[in-house]
Amino acid sequence: MTLRIGVIGTGAIGQDHIHRISNNLHRGHIVAVTDVNLEQAQRTASQLNEPARIFADGYQLIASPDVDAILVASWGPTHEEFVLASIAAGKPVFCEKPLAVTAEGCMRIMDAEMAYGRPLVQVGYMRRYDRSYRQLKQVLDEGRIGETLLVHAAHRAPSAPGCTGDMAITDSHVHEIDVLRWLLDDDYISAQVIQPRSTRLAAKGLQDPIIVLLETRKGIRIDTEIFVNCQYGYDIQCQIVGEKGIAHLPEPSSVQMRSDARLSTEILTDWKDRFADAYDVELQEWIDASLQNEVYGPTAWDGYVAAVTADACVKAKYSGLIEPIHLREKPAFYNRNRMFA
Ligand code: NAP
Repeated sequence: MTLRIGVIGTGAIGQDHIHRISNNLHRGHIVAVTDVNLEQAQRTASQLNEPARIFADGYQLIASPDVDAILVASWGPTHEEFVLASIAAGKPVFCEKPLAVTAEGCMRIMDAEMAYGRPLVQVGYMRRYDRSYRQLKQVLDEGRIGETLLVHAAHRAPSAPGCTGDMAITDSHVHEIDVLRWLLDDDYISAQVIQPRSTRLAAKGLQDPIIVLLETRKGIRIDTEIFVNCQYGYDIQCQIVGEKGIAHLPEPSSVQMRSDARLSTEILTDWKDRFADAYDVELQEWIDASLQNEVYGPTAWDGYVAAVTADACVKAKYSGLIEPIHLREKPAFYNRNRMFA
């Protein structure tokens, strides 16, 4: 069986996903693409081994009887409308983060999905599929360092000229928000943002780095440094402090070299390389689950929690206060998720 996939948005991540579905993965076939930049959609389609149909807009693509499932990789503010249209058409939809740019938008999606009666939505939080994060989770789940007490995390990128305003939180930190609650099997109750001395190498007016402090229901304290102009590499760190020991996120494997009187290992510089394998696993599992009419990955509920938590972090950045995080009660509908419940 093959899942016939239509892609909305053929920018950076859209092209990447199209390439991996067409070349690396099984049982998925890109049959349709669209983008507001139709020329780019055409160029992308022309590079495929088998032809894909170009649609004038996302709505027509979603409605096409030749499309079984939708992959939304357009600009964030368009996600909600395309996910709602996919639910209305009764088709599985993989939506890149964010699910919607507001918590209210995420709630509208959850309400529509629950009214439809069966999960259809998966959100693109790919770190849950990263081998190193899965290994770290296994250590925690097996109780090998006892109960978790503290987490020290860092999210560093070499440079981010396009990162302005609150994007360090809404674009970068959201990945930490999602993966840490999944790792800890917990949710957040408050957020605080510390703004230390800022680098001179960031875009004008951008506070970089920031430190986000989160507190969870279980009382775990998390500090995450977000530093998107750190110059030296793309470097994701996570250290869990437990009652009986410390667990570190494994480093990506890299050849250790002894040369020129130095002992060295390379550090990656591109997020696409750091999470390339995770994207492959994420989309393969989405294709396979969709063929079985299931959703096993991050759900609309996870998209909603990320939105509420990111909102509280942004509020805390401006208020300088510890801001509470209030979630609506988790609908039983979202406890059906087998892999990540
Ligand atoms: P991008 O390069 O700007 O691509 C977005 C594409 O969508 C552009 O070609 C854009 O056209 C198009 N578009 C905008 N509105 C549209 C509409 N109404 N219908 C169809 N196409 C539309 O951005 P990107 O980096 O690929 O990011 C896309 C999304 O993926 C974002 O939400 C981002 O947060 C997410 N993302 C996730 C990850 C991850 O690690 N999970 C990584 C990267 C990106 P124009 O350029 O002409 O506006």
